[in-house]
Amino acid sequence: MAQQYDTLIIGSGLAGLTLALQLADQQKVCLVSKRQISDSASNWAQGGIAAVINHKDSVEAHIKDTLIAGAGLCDEAITRMIIEHGREAVEWLIDLGVEFTRENDDSDFHLTREGGHSHRRILHVADATGKAVQETLAQRVRKHPNITILENHIAVDLITTKKLHKTQKNSCLGAYVLDIASGKVLTIGAQHTSLATGGAGKVYLYTTNPDVSTGDGIAMAWRAGCRISNMEFVQFHPTCLFHPQEKSFLISEAVRGEGGLLKLADGTRFMPNHDERAELAPRDVVARAIDFEMKRLGLDCVYLDITHKSPAFIKKHFPTIHQRCLALGIDITTSPIPVVPAAHYSCGGVMTNHHGQTDIDNLYAIGETSCTGLHGANRLASNSLLECLVLARAAAANILKAKPRTMPDLPYWDESRVTDADEEILITHTWNELRRFMWNYVGIVRTNKRLSRAMHRIQMLRDEVHEFYSNFRVSNNLIELRNLLQVSELIVKSAMQRQESRGLHYSRDYPELLPEAEPTILKPDDHYSLLDNKHGHYLFDAY
Ligand SMILES: Cc1cc2nc3c(=O)[nH]c(=O)nc-3n(C[C@H](O)[C@H](O)[C@H](O)COP(=O)(O)OP(=O)(O)OC[C@H]3O[C@@H](n4cnc5c(N)ncnc54)[C@H](O)[C@@H]3O)c2cc1C
Repeated sequence: MAQQYDTLIIGSGLAGLTLALQLADQQKVCLVSKRQISDSASNWAQGGIAAVINHKDSVEAHIKDTLIAGAGLCDEAITRMIIEHGREAVEWLIDLGVEFTRENDDSDFHLTREGGHSHRRILHVADATGKAVQETLAQRVRKHPNITILENHIAVDLITTKKLHKTQKNSCLGAYVLDIASGKVLTIGAQHTSLATGGAGKVYLYTTNPDVSTGDGIAMAWRAGCRISNMEFVQFHPTCLFHPQEKSFLISEAVRGEGGLLKLADGTRFMPNHDERAELAPRDVVARAIDFEMKRLGLDCVYLDITHKSPAFIKKHFPTIHQRCLALGIDITTSPIPVVPAAHYSCGGVMTNHHGQTDIDNLYAIGETSCTGLHGANRLASNSLLECLVLARAAAANILKAKPRTMPDLPYWDESRVTDADEEILITHTWNELRRFMWNYVGIVRTNKRLSRAMHRIQMLRDEVHEFYSNFRVSNNLIELRNLLQVSELIVKSAMQRQESRGLHYSRDYPELLPEAEPTILKPDDHYSLLDNKHGHYLFDAY
């Protein structure tokens, strides 16, 4: 028997956990997470959540800042809706027990100000906001009797009426989910399904994202028939630690704020050649300058030097960075820190409305996997956790209003025509190759030639992986690789369509801004083969 729930939520970051808690008093909910609940970008968020709390601040000012950052591509109505609901959303977190940092006198919340914000409006829990929020919500989720949690389970694909019955009107019926430990694929049916799978930073060689950020929700939604928007807008953080044993440790922008200087290996500063604000230029300008120098000189990294400050100052202001680097043999009081820019946030994703509804009935997308129109061409810092919260709450309200429908019997995952993979090398090799050329050709600075090269390689790898997927049992790595390839293709296609430089997308062939701002919207063809495939896995062997 297929398992049946009222709502199936795929992903346990802030978006997924919020949705689960909002529904569970009235519904049977299944929460699927491909590692442990806490393995998410949400858990790693440092800065905080933007919300209008201070009486000197205003909703209008927050909207204005967001629209400026978004470079003409924010959806103004969605932006207003999210920002207007910010305060009640963070109050919900406070009611659940999240202890945001307060001022010394313990009365008001301590609000920080980040780049692009005209006011202090970032609520935070010291420098580990995401962890505090995630732990509070996860505890509640674990205790709730109506929530079934499936950890170490990875969703493979959505089940839709269009795939099953070739209906014109497409609605979502649930998903196939691999139990990673047993290797069995479960059939999970649900009245409503929500993708909350986070971003896609693992497409790139260097990323601040956790390993789970492989764009699965975007790839699944695309294969199922959803439109995907604005994938070319990938935000790069300028300074991530470059070290073989440390995959994705952020070196906070505060280090530059406190006087840290960016240098080449021979000690030459380069930022003044790129921008008069030098190291204090905005994130995207600094990331582009580092990328330029690395490509120009063929470097592996550049260096962030704060050694001119006293050891006491460095240890007091950056205790975590100091200790983490020291553990890796880098004493930042005496040596510069090797850094590279790293993919940080995916502004694009599955197109949704203000309830998180996608193009497919009964399918929602919330959090970083979605594209609501809030971020436009560039995300304003700390608006992403806000979007997770507000859209999860809006989706819950919409789901709770829906009338129940009769669910058809769902076919099982068919493994009768596949065998165990004989070797994993294709997967690891392809993954490495993909991340490296995406970094080199589709990174911070793009050209037509680089994009065409990347597309050509993606198509070759895609055919190989497709063949593999059709003939062998699915595994966690194969599912992620297939999704990464899909998402890479969507990023490259979107970048090729944008013949201008706007927000986070910079093309050397089109350095100007076009007078009209238009979103990039990719519409799926009927690219999946239906019941007539020759290979394994029944419905889902095609890209
Ligand atoms: C280092 C870092 C610092 C950041 N700091 C801030 C900040 O200060 N403020 C801010 O607003 N934003 C910040 N961001 C961005 C923000 O953290 C993310 O945008 C946000 O947390 C995304 O939440 P989410 O719920 O959409 O996805 P995530 O929190 O990434 O959760 C995704 C979940 O989906 C699961 N999943 C993925 N695929 C599958 C699948 N196929 N099957 C089952 N489960 C799956 C994952 O395991 C995970 O549980 C930061 C990001 C990073 C990486």
